[in-house]
Amino acid sequence: MTREEEIARALADVEQSIGAACASAGRGRDEVTLIAITKTYPASDVRILAGLGVRDVGENRDQEAAPKARETEDLGLTWHFVGQLQTNKVRSVVAYADVIHSVDRARLVTAISREAVKAGRELTCLIQVALDDDPERGGARPADVPALADELAAAPALRLGGVMAVAPLGEDPGKAFARLRDLSQSVRRAHPEATMISAGMSGDLPEAVAHGATHVRIGTALLGRRRPFVR
Ligand SMILES: *Cc1c(COP(=O)(O)O)cnc(C)c1O
Repeated sequence: MTREEEIARALADVEQSIGAACASAGRGRDEVTLIAITKTYPASDVRILAGLGVRDVGENRDQEAAPKARETEDLGLTWHFVGQLQTNKVRSVVAYADVIHSVDRARLVTAISREAVKAGRELTCLIQVALDDDPERGGARPADVPALADELAAAPALRLGGVMAVAPLGEDPGKAFARLRDLSQSVRRAHPEATMISAGMSGDLPEAVAHGATHVRIGTALLGRRRPFVR
């Protein structure tokens, strides 16, 4: 099997599970956007995915994402940055990312806004929420989300898109995603435009779609199990 055939087959399977999850949740397939997470895989895989109709791709490390986005610039894809973001990487990320999923503190809002204004770009930002107490995984505490949402919505060159989370380890993902949806509802009371819910990875896609995910971030199920990235 060629790499293209392999990815086409995996994509068909992922499409099938998204479709099934939407159907059992009584949601339309067009309510959920598939973001292909391409970390550790080469730009040639991004090109194959694009050829198969995928328009949204995501990465979690700037060092890897920046060159990959540059190599595939001609494809006009929407780039999502989904990893923890240090302020010293913001300028680089703002140059190629259309959506940043991992905004979890006010300092980051200020930095992204400043760089977006300088670059003459408009970015959509999601607030990453910590659904457990593990500081390793990043995310704002639920109690801090409303204030952060206000800051984001008011920041020049930024659009508040909604919320994002990674399901905690060792908990039923459905329960965690239900909390994320509640939080999304309270954010939308103050900011009706913030409709995005970024949730669901290869291991918990159906649970995420059942609980209102509008964007699922799928890596392994599309491209295979990751090996350590070698450059
Ligand atoms: C790697 C990654 C994903 C994709 O995870 P898979 O289990 O490979 O589908 C999704 N979201 C974030 C934030 C990631 O870092």
